[in-house]
Amino acid sequence: MKGDYYSLLGVDRNASDDEIKKAYRKLAMQYHPDVNDSEDAAEKFKEIGEAYAVLGDPDKRALYDRGGDPLGGSAGFAGFQGGFDFTNLVDAMFGGGGQRGPRSRVQRGQDALARIRLTLAEAAFGVTKPLKIDTAVTCATCNGSGSADGSAPVTCAGCHGNGQVTVVQRSFLGDIRTTQPCPQCRGYGTVIQHPCQECGGEGRVRARRSVNVKIPAGVNTGNRIHLEAQGEVGPGGGPAGDLYVEINVTAHEVFKRNGDDLELVITIPMTAAALGTEITLQTLEAEREDLADQGTAVLQIPPGTQSGTRLTIPGKGVPRLRGSGRGNLGVTVGVTTPTKLDDEQRDLLGKLAELRDETAPATQITKQGKGVFGWLKDTFG
Ligand SMILES: [Zn+2]
Ligand SMILES: [Zn+2]
Repeated sequence: MKGDYYSLLGVDRNASDDEIKKAYRKLAMQYHPDVNDSEDAAEKFKEIGEAYAVLGDPDKRALYDRGGDPLGGSAGFAGFQGGFDFTNLVDAMFGGGGQRGPRSRVQRGQDALARIRLTLAEAAFGVTKPLKIDTAVTCATCNGSGSADGSAPVTCAGCHGNGQVTVVQRSFLGDIRTTQPCPQCRGYGTVIQHPCQECGGEGRVRARRSVNVKIPAGVNTGNRIHLEAQGEVGPGGGPAGDLYVEINVTAHEVFKRNGDDLELVITIPMTAAALGTEITLQTLEAEREDLADQGTAVLQIPPGTQSGTRLTIPGKGVPRLRGSGRGNLGVTVGVTTPTKLDDEQRDLLGKLAELRDETAPATQITKQGKGVFGWLKDTFG
């Protein structure tokens, strides 16, 4: 024995079993010859292995604490091969350990993801839509058991039902015993002798089915609807995972969405912009039969409205997905200049220009960016 086992592991004398195991694991990973090629790593690895062989075993630790040497004074790792279970060592090193029995044939299935395409009105006001999805479903022939004709799986001869077998590997450290899932039964502990013809023993088959997806008002592209237990049925007919339906909203010809607001661009004649007027607009609700009574809204155009002005109709935007209320409808107004004037109109406009002293107007220069044309860029992006 070279030095104190406690100081080799860097723990104090009343360290708990867990602290000892953790300290050993950390050092073993640090000094394992496979990862550490320094000259004294192998020696150090042996020493901490010895220390753990003693301190990791309550009986040996008690003997050591009373001043005895549980390893019988034989220096070196090979000396205690007989009395030391390498499975514990390997488990401690790689995070295994504990009792592992056969694994269940019945397992929860995976979550599934589907995508659904919605119009802007459907996304804004909510809709219930049928969606075709392909997932694993419980095999109807064997009812999920995987066995044909009501037969039952039999205990595996390879592992006697344990689901795992112990494999001994020779290494420079001596024999290393590891447990592995039994290859004959793939760890189940049982073997299906007469697999169901329909599912091949899996207990589930793939099928296309239709799910009604209830989409709340206010969803947007990228939102996911969560449907519990509508995903893949698990192996052995196990409980289904969840289904997530991802929303994709198609661009609208007229309305553009900006958060909870809807945006609209209209054009009005120059005279209406100058004098002011009231216009009736079709709202997004007009696309929905059940909301047709809210299909219009009145917009007041104040006198002297400039091209590019954004006016709002409160509460005519998209309902908020979280919380209450709705966004606004923003209306950006473009002013059209009359073309094709007849003689009378040209005279009238000429007279107006004279009255306003605008027959030879000073040029107004607009800075880059915002200005009369900025709105066009902003709105049509
Ligand atoms: Zn089946
Ligand atoms: Zn087996």
